[in-house]
Amino acid sequence: VEVRLVNHTPEPERTMASAARLCYADVSAAQLVDQLQPRQIEDLLQRVISSGHHSVLEHASFSLAIDGISRAASHQLVRHRLASFSQQSQRYVQFDKPSYVVPPRVQADPALCQRFEAAVAVTVEAYRDLLLAGMPAEDARYVLPNAWTTRLVMTMNARELLHVCGVRLCSKAQWEIRHLFAQVKNEVTSVAPLFGRHLAPKCVAVGYCDERDGCGLRPRRPTS
Ligand SMILES: Cc1cc2nc3c(=O)[nH]c(=O)nc-3n(C[C@H](O)[C@H](O)[C@H](O)COP(=O)(O)OP(=O)(O)OC[C@H]3O[C@@H](n4cnc5c(N)ncnc54)[C@H](O)[C@@H]3O)c2cc1C
Repeated sequence: VEVRLVNHTPEPERTMASAARLCYADVSAAQLVDQLQPRQIEDLLQRVISSGHHSVLEHASFSLAIDGISRAASHQLVRHRLASFSQQSQRYVQFDKPSYVVPPRVQADPALCQRFEAAVAVTVEAYRDLLLAGMPAEDARYVLPNAWTTRLVMTMNARELLHVCGVRLCSKAQWEIRHLFAQVKNEVTSVAPLFGRHLAPKCVAVGYCDERDGCGLRPRRPTS
């Protein structure tokens, strides 16, 4: 999968920190944006994130171009309702070349990998036959596998990004969406390093794991 940050709020960290500072200062909003020093920005972001004052994070947004994830993964991705998505249409785009994701565990087993490839080849052939017979792409696509790749543009504000990284960077998330969000984190960190370091599995912020079979990164949630 290829992930590229294609746009973002200018000076995202200054924007979020100014919004946080405004809540407690008798200074005009515009003045605050200009005056904040880097150290204050760092402290303010740390404070709002650890205290749960997350609404100020809604003032910064990030748009990412995502290329080559499977439909299996994109289906999980678009469950996040506070993000915005535009996804390549299987109705309007006819696919000439097969493009699909083979899970690493399948790749690691030559016999099963061959079986997997053969199954995809059958569906690709059926897809082509249906198109050749005059069937519209919107109907022919029904035979395509979950492994078929897709493209999206995704826009998330920083609050949603923090939340989604909490659940999708967790080892309980499926490998493909976990890898995707590792790349999303890298891209966002390249323009917002102070914020980016807070993008982590949810256990990191709270210090314990609330999953049934945790990975051991943090201790189990204390029982009361
Ligand atoms: C490991 C894992 C396994 C999963 N397995 C399954 C599964 O087996 N089956 C399945 O169906 N789904 C599954 N999901 C998807 C999951 O149930 C959520 O739909 C998905 O993670 C979106 O999460 P969300 O609702 O917290 O986030 P978002 O939709 O991104 O929303 C962010 C936050 O906004 C608030 N919010 C958003 N919409 C509302 C609303 N309507 N009302 C109130 N508050 C709202 C909530 O606080 C929410 O946490 C799984 C997710 C994970 C991470």
